[in-house]
Amino acid sequence: MTDVIIVGAGPTGVMLAAELRLHGVGVVVLEAAAEPADIVKALGLHVRSIEIIDQRGLLDAFLAEGQRHPLRSHFAAIVKPGEVTLDTAHPYILGIPQSATERLLTEHAVKLGAEIRRGNAVVGLTQDDDGVTAELADGTRLTARYLVGCDGGRSAVRKLLGVAFPGEPSRVDTLLGEMKLTAPPETVAAVMTEIRKTELRFGAGPLGDGNYRVLVPADGVADDRAVAPTIEEFRRQLVATAGTDFGAHSPRWLSRFGDATRQAERYRVGRVFLAGDAAHIHPPTGGQGLNLGIQDAFNLGWKLAAQVNGWAPGDLLDTYHSERHPVAADVLTNTAAQMHLLANEPGVRAVRHVLSELMDFENVARFLLEKVTAIGVRYDLGDGHELVGRRMRNHGDLYASMRDGRGLLVDPTGRLSAEGWADRVGRVSEEVGVPAALLRPDGHVAWVGDSQDDLTGQLTRWFGEPAS
Ligand SMILES: Cc1cc2nc3c(=O)[nH]c(=O)nc-3n(C[C@H](O)[C@H](O)[C@H](O)COP(=O)(O)OP(=O)(O)OC[C@H]3O[C@@H](n4cnc5c(N)ncnc54)[C@H](O)[C@@H]3O)c2cc1C
Repeated sequence: MTDVIIVGAGPTGVMLAAELRLHGVGVVVLEAAAEPADIVKALGLHVRSIEIIDQRGLLDAFLAEGQRHPLRSHFAAIVKPGEVTLDTAHPYILGIPQSATERLLTEHAVKLGAEIRRGNAVVGLTQDDDGVTAELADGTRLTARYLVGCDGGRSAVRKLLGVAFPGEPSRVDTLLGEMKLTAPPETVAAVMTEIRKTELRFGAGPLGDGNYRVLVPADGVADDRAVAPTIEEFRRQLVATAGTDFGAHSPRWLSRFGDATRQAERYRVGRVFLAGDAAHIHPPTGGQGLNLGIQDAFNLGWKLAAQVNGWAPGDLLDTYHSERHPVAADVLTNTAAQMHLLANEPGVRAVRHVLSELMDFENVARFLLEKVTAIGVRYDLGDGHELVGRRMRNHGDLYASMRDGRGLLVDPTGRLSAEGWADRVGRVSEEVGVPAALLRPDGHVAWVGDSQDDLTGQLTRWFGEPAS
């Protein structure tokens, strides 16, 4: 029997596959599409995701394909000119198309031994005490000990589980596509500057290869957002919004997205889990969805591997829901707030003005940026040092020491021992500004202190019983 079936080879699914393979867990990824999508949704990675790819030794490959942009305070398309200092070794946004992120993560997962089966849509699901059986569209079945639905916002797995997906429906749709424009670049730029003074859901940015990425409000809300708009619909909406269609033609791809916010009530039902867009959807404001999915996978991967490998403490798997559900709930709130703040209405313009003034305060700017970049996330791991529950920033070679997926005892004193857990916890003597710390495999701080007894308790809590 396979250890874990992952449904969906989007960024969440392939990240999770790689995390499980790091721990030797057998993984089959079932992906409905025969080929990777040609639509480019996400355009970048935020600080926490960049830190994660650094923790797994992938940073150079990503930097080679991306562009670093300065970290400016931004929220709801209010962008402040000054840079904001965040407590990270990676203070930038990495501009990289989602297609490249997916390709690099897929290569990483495959290199680690994950099997990805394309053209395999999951249509049925049953589970019992021993395992989960997925039924494919061609009638074949595959059984595994666990299954994770990483199959996007319309998740078949979520629906088959009967997990509720409460939230707010879409109020406005936006069209997005890549196409050629016959209007001269100066005209496009001038119109864009003028229209964006009042309509923030409009944009036409050159991609450097003769094409433009064009964004324009749709006329109403579509019955089925999976049906792509036509170039005629795009032209109509450009004329309605900007007074010209710029001579739009030869689309590479066209799509539409809404602003619904919904979250799965439960991230786990027995042996089945939900992650990424399958667990939460929200508007793309602030560019957080793909990042959130990668971070879900980073949280779940080591826990599920621990369960499969037989050393997971009793409630470890349930901490996936208790830690990640509140994080996504917060993203739903901040993206909905940002989306509402884009409206061209007098009251909203007034609120934007006040918010813009507030963002001149460094603490406000930092608070919002830590939210959007996810480095402000703090899991509720109980009382303790202020770092407990937070991710630890890189110090020296700390992140390089985490590439094998084990937890880490950071002990500059050299007096503490995690010997019984050496197969699950590495050790380094890096100075990190505290006496000693225990990091989980996802880089979050489980414990800070200097007492061996306390450390032993925390090792058992997160990594199970010591080897005899
Ligand atoms: C316009 C737009 C711009 C965005 N910009 C950003 C951004 O800048 N930054 C950011 O972080 N996020 C952004 N996002 C969000 C981001 O694109 C998503 O959050 C991300 O793709 C979610 O990844 P996922 O792997 O969870 O799901 P998906 O990418 O949806 O992948 C799910 C996969 O599952 C497969 N699948 C579906 N059903 C089945 C089935 N039954 N059986 C087998 N396989 C199945 C699908 O084919 C797909 O490959 C944007 C989204 C949009 C719409």
